[in-house]
Amino acid sequence: MKHIQVKSVLNKLKRRDDWFLVDYTLNPFLGCAFNCVYCYIHGSKYGGEDTSTLQIKTNAPEILYRQLKNRARKREYGFIGLGSSTEPYPPLEAGLKITRELLRIIYRFKFPVNLNTKSTLVLRDMDLLKKIDEKAVLPENFKDELRHGVIVSFSFSTVDSRLAEIFEPSASTVEERLETMGRFREEGFLVGANLMPLLPFLSDTPDELDRMMGKMKDHGAEFVLVSGLTLFGDKPADCKVRYYEKLKQHFPEAAPETQKLFGESFAPAQKYQRELAKLAQKLASKHGLRTRIIPNIE
Ligand code: SF4
Repeated sequence: MKHIQVKSVLNKLKRRDDWFLVDYTLNPFLGCAFNCVYCYIHGSKYGGEDTSTLQIKTNAPEILYRQLKNRARKREYGFIGLGSSTEPYPPLEAGLKITRELLRIIYRFKFPVNLNTKSTLVLRDMDLLKKIDEKAVLPENFKDELRHGVIVSFSFSTVDSRLAEIFEPSASTVEERLETMGRFREEGFLVGANLMPLLPFLSDTPDELDRMMGKMKDHGAEFVLVSGLTLFGDKPADCKVRYYEKLKQHFPEAAPETQKLFGESFAPAQKYQRELAKLAQKLASKHGLRTRIIPNIE
């Protein structure tokens, strides 16, 4: 663990991300303690930046206060994506409470939040999230479509606990995440699941995806956002290398077809992506799930 000082912590996007509906991103940490095998933040994709150690942006609260005060004064309200590139609830957060402090500031300035996590620790902040949910000022064109200042999203690459133990060993278990999602829904939050990245030939098959969507629905998800795997790099810490290693070790039969699917690219073939999107749409409809957080938003 390392403490760092930053000059800015709130990042304004050039244009709204119409999938996650966020105008801003906010990450209290650099790196991630969960170390999922498929995750690209640990390798060379970020230009060799050291992400092997979890780095805490110690002064994030005071910087966020300044930045949000300024945005609020100009009434530049928009959803803040919390945990857009790293987990906002690593185990250390239990003692640090830096994410909680950021939520307090967000509440103070009435900004809405889309929070994405793989951790049950988010339950600790339900009280604060409830207040944000009720009081946040929504962007003008959302007001008729959305009654929530908080979107709570949980990430799953699989609902198979054996697969999860192999590919995301440090995250809360699948069952814990599902149960946490259900708790948020019971409390009246808008909840959904980011089914990403789906693992080719393991969790992206029609049967597996059907099972996943069924579980999401049963545990309160209203929407699912589905995306395939991306694999980067050729160095030992890069996710492409780490992913293929794990695959060969645990699912040797899936390794050659996965390698063929990616070839030299970081993404699977276009045909695969089109078929996955079609399958996801079909199964989501079957389970009564939306494939957008809210429909008809420009
Ligand atoms: S929890 Fe998210 S950010 Fe952290 S290692 Fe896993 S995929 Fe990467």
